[in-house]
Amino acid sequence: MKIVVLKFGGTSVGSINRIKKVADIISRNTKNKKKVIVVSSAMSGVTNELIRKTRQISNNFEPSEYDVLVSSGEQMSCALISGRLNHIGIKSRSWLGWQVPIFTEGDYKKSRIVNIFKKKILKYLNSGGVPIITGFQGINHQNRLTTLERGGSDASAIMIAKFFKAEKCIIYTDVEGVYTTDPNYTKKAKKIKKISYEEMLEMSSLGAKVMQPASIQDARLNRVNVHVQSSFVNKPGTLITKRKNISKEKIITGISFTKNDSKITLIGVVDKPGVAASIFEPLSKNFINVDMVVQNISSNGKETDLTFTVKNEDVTKTERLLKNNKKIKFKSMLIKKNVSKLSIIGVGMITTPGVTYRMFKALAENKINIQVISTSEIKISVLIDKKLINKAVHALHREFNLEK
Ligand code: ASP
Ligand code: MG
Repeated sequence: MKIVVLKFGGTSVGSINRIKKVADIISRNTKNKKKVIVVSSAMSGVTNELIRKTRQISNNFEPSEYDVLVSSGEQMSCALISGRLNHIGIKSRSWLGWQVPIFTEGDYKKSRIVNIFKKKILKYLNSGGVPIITGFQGINHQNRLTTLERGGSDASAIMIAKFFKAEKCIIYTDVEGVYTTDPNYTKKAKKIKKISYEEMLEMSSLGAKVMQPASIQDARLNRVNVHVQSSFVNKPGTLITKRKNISKEKIITGISFTKNDSKITLIGVVDKPGVAASIFEPLSKNFINVDMVVQNISSNGKETDLTFTVKNEDVTKTERLLKNNKKIKFKSMLIKKNVSKLSIIGVGMITTPGVTYRMFKALAENKINIQVISTSEIKISVLIDKKLINKAVHALHREFNLEK
């Protein structure tokens, strides 16, 4: 049986009119002899509204009850989709997580799918029906309702595609796909036809918000081919797939950047084993996400300088934690707000020498100063002044021929 999973995000099912459009898209997909399983998120805004209600009741709302309430948005959208499909003559019914069932493990509010029973759904598919399954929810071993992390209906779709060995999983959303860089920054940004899981992970955690990063990781581990496309226009989107399926023509696949980072430098840190751990321990305990970290070599063997970045909103807290940290000694602290991390990403750079040089040269020619550099196998990131992001993105987009 050839199965495709179609997943619809909140804006795609955001109104009655949108749901009617979604039913048409589903109907189109049933025409090519493939069996269709649909996964839907809640109508946009509904989940937020439900969360607001829990806060009005108590700021200590029981997590298990939170999941019962917050998962209800998906029940509504799935019933509406199914109702519309029946209206246009397509046999369909909705399935809540517990009815499938979809088993999860872990804490309430952030459970993970570990198993999906297939029997009832397969029987229904064989009878010619289109099952509409609620994203974002499941049940645990105690038979209690659970939800995945926010945005988790992507994960539901990927795991359903995995367990049903679907040929592909189409994520319908409000953008046309993944772009070489943020289209709001340059009109020259191009839709990417194919991108590897690894590149997509880099792109998404760096700001190209198309899919939840944890779901991309699920897709990668389970080798699920994911198509991202728009439910608003009928145009091909972007395929997220394994590296082997990607043509080697392009060295760089995309450019991503952050917009609200701060750089913190500790000068004259006493250099002894464990000092970096002592610096970052209180930050991690306070959920402050530390990103780029660079430590200088210690020229006198006693002291070193350490630079790292955090989000702008975490700066004040970070400063306080560092100043109050009795376990570390340093001479002074420099803080620079409004820096941006700019990254070029591409599996092509593994086999192509000179990419780093080309990036640095293109930035230099545009008089853009690099403050910090870090690299991985498929990514080179630099920290620059936020004001120069636009110029830098244009320069690199041109340098690596992404406009073609
Ligand atoms: N409705 C859930 C949320 O808003 C799940 C999702 O949209 O993927 O987080
Ligand atoms: Mg969503």
